[in-house]
Amino acid sequence: MKKFIWNIRPIGLPLVLRYCKKCGKKAEFICSGQFRVNAQRKYLDIWLIYKCTKCDTTWNAAVYSRVSPQTLSTGLLERFYSNDERLARQYAVDFQFLKGNGAEALLPSYAVSGDIPVSGEMSEVEVQSEYPFPVKVSALVRDKLCLSQKDYQQLVAEGKIRDSSGRDMRKCRLKKGTVLIFE
Ligand SMILES: [Zn+2]
Repeated sequence: MKKFIWNIRPIGLPLVLRYCKKCGKKAEFICSGQFRVNAQRKYLDIWLIYKCTKCDTTWNAAVYSRVSPQTLSTGLLERFYSNDERLARQYAVDFQFLKGNGAEALLPSYAVSGDIPVSGEMSEVEVQSEYPFPVKVSALVRDKLCLSQKDYQQLVAEGKIRDSSGRDMRKCRLKKGTVLIFE
């Protein structure tokens, strides 16, 4: 069986939906890429700052609350202070982190790199993503193979595209260790 690896990379950062006081309704917030570190006595509070796309009102997503600086490595703390781009991105695409902060994240667009299996040859595709990114597997495969909804449904019904752990290919979302089988 031929093996392929697809790598999923979000383009841009997910917007999050939450209530904006100034707008008086739910609004889209975008990650500013900036952290705020507040030192109080012996403890630190660290937030990732978001801004309402309509009115610029800020919202702080809590990264650490009342954490002792000694528990963070010096390198990590420095990255918060310097608004390390990669670190900000790591949080901004973490749907669990955003959910934990009471925000609903919207899926960003994404790119899929990796070769496409040859039709008729049994192949295994491991789907890798550096970030937890709950995109629908059906959308991902259709995009990658340029399949219409109808063609995709047919291939799934015929068992020519399936999930190695037997998940429903019409509904399942990407998770760690997703492996797809193509025939
Ligand atoms: Zn607003």
